Amino acid sequence: MNWHTSTFEAVLKELQSSKNGLTTDEVAQRMQQYGPNQLQEKKKKPVWLLFVMQFKDVMILILMVAAIISAVVGDLKDMIVILFIIIINAIVGFVQEYRAEKAIDALKKMSAANVRVRRNKRVEQIAATEVVPGDVVLLEAGDMVGADLRIIESHSLKIEEASLTGESQAVNKSPDAIKEEEVPLGDRVNMAYKSTLVTAGNGTGVVVATGMQTEIGKIAGMLQEKEATTPLQQRLADFSKKLSFIVLGICVVLYFIGILRGETPANMLLTTISLAVAAIPEALPAVITIALALGAKKLVRKNALIRKLPAVETLGSVTYICTDKTGTLTQNQMTVQEIWQYEQWGLTIPEIKKEQAMLLVMSLNHDAKEDQTDDNKLKGDPTEVALVEYALQQEGYNNRWENDFPRRQELPFDSDRKMMTTVHAVNDEFLVITKGALEAVLNICESADEEEISAKSDKLAEAGQRIIAYSCKLIQQLPKEGDMEALESDQEFCGLAGMIDPPRPEARQAITECKTAGIVPVMITGDHPITASAIARDMGILQHRNDRTVTGIELEKLSDEALDSEITQIKVYARVSPQQKLRIVKTLQKKDQFVAMTGDGVNDAPALKRANIGVAMGITGTDVSKEAADMILLDDNFATIVKAVREGRRIYDNIRRFIRYVLACNFAEILTIFIAPLVGMPIPLLPIHILWINLVTDSLPGLALAGEKADVKVMERPPRDPKESIFAMGLGFNVIWVGVLMAAVGLVTQAWSIHIGDAHWQTMVFTVLCFSQMGHALVSRSEHEYIFRIGVFTNRNLIGAIALTFILQIAIIYMPFLNKIFNTEPLTWKELGTCLLISTITFHAVELEKFIKKRMGTI
Ligand code: ATP
Repeated sequence: MNWHTSTFEAVLKELQSSKNGLTTDEVAQRMQQYGPNQLQEKKKKPVWLLFVMQFKDVMILILMVAAIISAVVGDLKDMIVILFIIIINAIVGFVQEYRAEKAIDALKKMSAANVRVRRNKRVEQIAATEVVPGDVVLLEAGDMVGADLRIIESHSLKIEEASLTGESQAVNKSPDAIKEEEVPLGDRVNMAYKSTLVTAGNGTGVVVATGMQTEIGKIAGMLQEKEATTPLQQRLADFSKKLSFIVLGICVVLYFIGILRGETPANMLLTTISLAVAAIPEALPAVITIALALGAKKLVRKNALIRKLPAVETLGSVTYICTDKTGTLTQNQMTVQEIWQYEQWGLTIPEIKKEQAMLLVMSLNHDAKEDQTDDNKLKGDPTEVALVEYALQQEGYNNRWENDFPRRQELPFDSDRKMMTTVHAVNDEFLVITKGALEAVLNICESADEEEISAKSDKLAEAGQRIIAYSCKLIQQLPKEGDMEALESDQEFCGLAGMIDPPRPEARQAITECKTAGIVPVMITGDHPITASAIARDMGILQHRNDRTVTGIELEKLSDEALDSEITQIKVYARVSPQQKLRIVKTLQKKDQFVAMTGDGVNDAPALKRANIGVAMGITGTDVSKEAADMILLDDNFATIVKAVREGRRIYDNIRRFIRYVLACNFAEILTIFIAPLVGMPIPLLPIHILWINLVTDSLPGLALAGEKADVKVMERPPRDPKESIFAMGLGFNVIWVGVLMAAVGLVTQAWSIHIGDAHWQTMVFTVLCFSQMGHALVSRSEHEYIFRIGVFTNRNLIGAIALTFILQIAIIYMPFLNKIFNTEPLTWKELGTCLLISTITFHAVELEKFIKKRMGTI
């Protein structure tokens, strides 16, 4: 059947459905027949392939060559150990990557959309995957269309279909059949397609295709998302590449020096290969992904769902948080405090006394619905629920009104008009009721005493009350679809309702935290400036004398230059339209600020996209805003943004910790092995020793460092410059001097033990390097604070990793069977004691650096 050329009645018949939708049994049967409504994902790598992929790394391949060379030159034992080490490396890499992949999958599942359908004659909210052909879907501004639909009803329904047609202009939808058969998708105005976005109005449609049968499904193959790499990942991948070349250069030089010193070529080849493998930080970009993915997983537990992985990395750089008020800073639990009826209201509505007017309009103009599954409680926009509940409890209210004044038409609320209008039949006339922001309502009223009304409203607003104004009129005829705007004109002012919405208790604390962290919290709201300022003052957003509140109208009048110079003083934007949010973000960015911006509506999407971190609301947010966001707040709570920033800073710190530790260790290894032959000593370590040190240091302690808790002062320092190099703030310098020191410690141990004729010198150097690196792992836990102050045992994983490495190293030194494999010799107690003592040098030196820096006031 051709859906767009048939009438919707015919389509419903063909699909054996009705306007009331399907029943549970029908749904179950169709689910069996058509399967879930999802697009096939790119074929996932099977788990075994993920494991095999670990071996495709160039370094691992080189190591395998090394293993083969060992076998050829007759050293089977070396080959076995090298293979063993390769496998352990692969297992560690595999487990981490698998965990990261699972974490990302879980995030994707959580951001899946919901759909409202009419089933069993009721409206139900279900996961988009559960939709079947024949389902009747309800659409509303902000929704993402869940399947391909034939429109049944349209109230100014507009859909933006750019994802399918490339056309960014939203299309007006209508239920009428189209005559021509061959019309392009973009012109099939009686259809709605999966994954397109409803930008205005509301309507219903019947599902004609799901999953891969939908239009988007047919081209899904072309739409596979590319996996994004974060800026940091790219920079580190570049860095690793450059470093690899340097290391390879050093290895070539070392090879020839070794040969000149009389080593065998096979032996030198193995040594240099092992060194290359150990010193090249090939795992660096992978570790970043793992740290970010696991960080994102942790953030979900704190109610922040990350949609784009780079956000985890950049969260720590946020300098401005521009937040909505209602529901984010406040609880969105409104209660009407008082209503005020305008004395000069002069309409005569049959059977309605003058003093009942406010109650009548309050009880009729709303979209709140009784929820049959929940004790008939009113559900919907909290502002409306509060207004209706208040009206219902008053004495003058009459419960027949709803039947006596049935609704005929409506103009839904939108935050640009800041009003909503309903039309009700009264005998053979029609009552038009509008409610909304005071200025908007006054604008459509004929002869209202603005001064008197504004004075009353200001008084309520100064106490932080949210004000809703009402007006109404009687008309003789219903306007046609296209002329609905005329409803909002020539009205009679009716009165005001003032309500309170208490602040979220945790938000105040979060605002203080922002300030100590060098982040400026800014309120952007559709509410009245007096109400907004009162709440902002109460919460600490408006604090200093220079802090300003600006309204949308004032903002409109400000030139770009004027806004540039004033923007840092503006802490509250009131009565702004969502479009103005975009201008605010752009101006702040021009001033080199890094902006997190919240939003929930359709029109917020451009600002969310443009912001450095776009934040959508999980509960009240529209699908459109969620699509545009980098992060979704599952609890709509401002405090969650601050928690996420804190977590972002922690994750970035941990990446720095890992890099600082691993690079210094690698540098030490390469220096030790390179310098020894230059100063006339034998190459201190065997290939197997190098590989062992690389394995035990890079893997477990490295990963444990990446899981370090946040620095106590993490929210007391200013945000990080997003352009700052990861090696900034002394990290690069630290890597170099610690590497040099560690190498010097190893070389001096070698020189001294050879000098006194100690036959165990090689085992000693091996042990000193291994233990020094453990000490360095411990001390790398904080860049600023002494380890004894943050508590030696506060990172249990690291202590476990160090203890395990220690035990294994002791086993390698003392167990005869391991002695044979690793070519080690049991050390005397004195030698072991000396090694342990020497190994603490690096630890103490780094602590001393912290001491000096603290003294100099640089940290
Ligand atoms: P925020 O932007 O912080 O969430 P807000 O909820 O006040 O604040 P909008 O939703 O844009 O922002 O609302 C703007 C104004 O429109 C409100 O201050 C109120 O006067 C009016 N308003 C809000 N909800 C409705 C509604 N359901 N019907 C009519 N008018 C409304």
